[in-house]
Amino acid sequence: MHGAVWREKGRLSRLVRHNQAFREEVGQRVTGRVAFDEPMAAHTWLRVGGPADAYVAPKSPDELTALVKWLAAENAPYLIIGGGSNLLVTDRGIRGVVIDTSAGLKGISVISEGPVSTVVQAMAGERLNRLCRFAVDKGLAGLNFAVGIPGSVGGAIMMNAGTAGGAVEQVLTQATVLFPDGRLESVNDSMLSFAYRELALPGPHNPMHPPVIIDGRFKLQPASRDDLAAEAEALLKSRSEKQPIGDASAGCFFKNPEDAEPAGALIEKIGMKGAKLGGAQVSEKHANFILNRENAKAEDILRLMEKVQAAVYKAFRVELKPEVRIVGE
Ligand SMILES: Cc1cc2nc3c(=O)[nH]c(=O)nc-3n(C[C@H](O)[C@H](O)[C@H](O)COP(=O)(O)OP(=O)(O)OC[C@H]3O[C@@H](n4cnc5c(N)ncnc54)[C@H](O)[C@@H]3O)c2cc1C
Repeated sequence: MHGAVWREKGRLSRLVRHNQAFREEVGQRVTGRVAFDEPMAAHTWLRVGGPADAYVAPKSPDELTALVKWLAAENAPYLIIGGGSNLLVTDRGIRGVVIDTSAGLKGISVISEGPVSTVVQAMAGERLNRLCRFAVDKGLAGLNFAVGIPGSVGGAIMMNAGTAGGAVEQVLTQATVLFPDGRLESVNDSMLSFAYRELALPGPHNPMHPPVIIDGRFKLQPASRDDLAAEAEALLKSRSEKQPIGDASAGCFFKNPEDAEPAGALIEKIGMKGAKLGGAQVSEKHANFILNRENAKAEDILRLMEKVQAAVYKAFRVELKPEVRIVGE
């Protein structure tokens, strides 16, 4: 059966949503988990988000590559997710196919070893924390800044994840990128345009068919394993003291503005620490975290976000921009 059956008819999103032929073909192309009308609240750390028309977890890089190429050729929109720890999905959900990388893009290995540096390759679906642990166990320094950041290696690369101690851009030397025409390219760091919590991959992209990070290579330095382990433990402890890590959140909600105090400090100054709207609440522990406290809807979180933005703007003339990726209809 071929996509031309449903390609011809009306709006794409509606076709992905209701077309039985499309659904059957997706099911045939993916041997990993396939679900339709899948609540995205089950796949995001914020625990909100309506249904994705289709949710798939391809079992291997080849399966994922073939699927992406097919969806792009058929003009069916897709969204890539790793751990869902930086996503706010709207209540109406996602029109198109959500592709989860966490099942099929697995593996961490040492690519080259030397007295000055060692290169470690990690597949995009690996948990970032597993990569950090791997580095510590091998006595390799460079990734401890990321200890405690949830989500996948691919998500960390796309978000240029980081802390005061560093960011992905400082250690990533190369990434394998899948383009929607099925091309797999090794892109080295000189071609990767990193910015604060952002990465732009080379080339113009159609947001309905974005490129996919398949793996990344990280350049690390030999160091004492015990020292690294002690540092990692201290960083985790400090994180749990400062951040509401037990609550449903997407981490820091807003980017820190360039020419002003950190977002959390601004929010605290206007007295919005602990502010509630519906089931959403600004954390009492860290004002740049918006939490899903009591079965919040995405709408509660979005309205609280706007309220915070308006109040910060009124007080300081500073525009807070979300670091969290807001996706969906
Ligand atoms: C408690 C908590 C603490 C946090 N602390 C930090 C912190 O200290 N520093 C920090 O930077 N962030 C932090 N975050 C935010 C989040 O963990 C990071 O942004 C993380 O790197 C996102 O990874 P993910 O796999 O969950 O990405 P997702 O949320 O699944 O996706 C994020 C974006 O990346 C894209 N994406 C994901 N995988 C791929 C891929 N393979 N190819 C192409 N695109 C892809 C998605 O389409 C989306 O646009 C925190 C979040 C929480 C919940």
